[in-house]
Amino acid sequence: MSQIVETLINLGLGKPADLKRGDTAFTGKVLLGGGANADCLSTVATHCQSQGLELCRPASASGESAASLATIQAWQNSDEAPGDKLQALIFDGTGITDTRDLTLAYDFFKPALKALSTCGRIIILSRPHQQQSSPQAAACQRALEGLARSLAKESGKRGTTAQVITVEAGAEAALVGPLGFLLSYRSSYVNAQVFRVSAADIGEFDSKAPLAGKTALVTGASRGIGAAIATALARDGAKIIGLDVEPLKADLETLMSKLGGQALIADITADDTPAKVLEQAKAAGGLDIVVHNAGITRDKTLANMPQHWWDLTLDINLGAALRLNSVLLESDALNSGGRIVGVSSMNGIAGQRGQSNYAASKAGVIGYVEQMARSLKERNITINAVAPGFIETQMTAAIPLMTREVGRRLNSLSQGGQPEDVAETIAFFANPQAAGVTGNIIRVCGQSWLGA
Ligand code: NAD
Repeated sequence: MSQIVETLINLGLGKPADLKRGDTAFTGKVLLGGGANADCLSTVATHCQSQGLELCRPASASGESAASLATIQAWQNSDEAPGDKLQALIFDGTGITDTRDLTLAYDFFKPALKALSTCGRIIILSRPHQQQSSPQAAACQRALEGLARSLAKESGKRGTTAQVITVEAGAEAALVGPLGFLLSYRSSYVNAQVFRVSAADIGEFDSKAPLAGKTALVTGASRGIGAAIATALARDGAKIIGLDVEPLKADLETLMSKLGGQALIADITADDTPAKVLEQAKAAGGLDIVVHNAGITRDKTLANMPQHWWDLTLDINLGAALRLNSVLLESDALNSGGRIVGVSSMNGIAGQRGQSNYAASKAGVIGYVEQMARSLKERNITINAVAPGFIETQMTAAIPLMTREVGRRLNSLSQGGQPEDVAETIAFFANPQAAGVTGNIIRVCGQSWLGA
């Protein structure tokens, strides 16, 4: 352990929990509860059972496996047999329309939180508050978001995350996409997020190779987060076209030959790059997934920033991706059922001293995704973005030591994320089960204290 880490622990930041990651089996007990008219309970129960999770309900709820308060209290004290603890708490608040009924959430969580195992999951289901017919109901639904974000802050030291899945009326079946992602260790560094789901046809797919038969373009694929994205999408069965600049040719080719993919050497800002991509896309029978990961930083306060640093950062991180999408969409080179994923940043949400160019470009990604989601729905294409916080890559390795250590600790999980954490969130967006997820900006930041 470095001296800096020890100093931070002594300052009260504590030792971060060891996060379980990847495909470690997510097993154990799930406590499921909800208010009156909780419309999503049966979908959640069916999903949990199909995954082999042991379903329990508080005694106040109907159902065969009701758990009494005494049983839940016994689970609280089962540190010696962690398998006896709860793995997830899922509360369906979709039917709460009277503020007095928010007490049902208190009643559900109060005894259960201490019975939740480390690296546990808290999931709250809600309805979009903007679509409620009464101000009371809107207040209740939005209240659930504040509750989840607070529980994430209270539980993060134990590696537990808390999130909301907001389900439009009629979209109940589509919630299994985000639910499956959250009830896994692929989502370990995603914390305090709101997944918005609308109705969509998920269709049939092979759960072991959900992206079989799909072709994915990943820009900036030779290293860091881009390499992790290409690897995760290839694992899920996609054929990868990895794009990167000439100086990284050797790294890109090595990775693509390992993944059975194709290397495309190009600068995304070059005038002829959209045409080159289009040619490869057509040869592949169209693209199904496009991930705009390539990005740079050129940090200086605005007063000291040379114009070419501003222009280059805006063009690589934002302008080039928009131009490429336009060409692909105008040429019908993005297949129906397609996925576009942008890579934004926490600093695009919060702003950052010395990063006005970078933050503007990354905020631009958010605006673009939110606007495009509406028109792309008609073409059966989803568009989403991740907003990573502090991720351990060459980009963040360049930050001075002390600033870096503070940066990686400023979140509820008290640690930096790994490239795989971002890649898994993107693989989730690409998954057929995420068909109802569009226009979402999901931060992968452990609940960063910046811009939260
Ligand atoms: P990185 O520097 O390790 O990788 C970036 C990749 O993009 C490199 O392979 C690079 O060659 C490629 N690239 C840059 N300019 C290009 C161009 N003109 N044409 C084609 N490829 C180009 O960085 P990373 O940390 O892996 O970041 C990946 C993405 O994640 C970036 O968009 C970055 O802004 C974003 N991000 C990273 C963090 C973090 O903490 N690392 C946080 C938030 C967002």
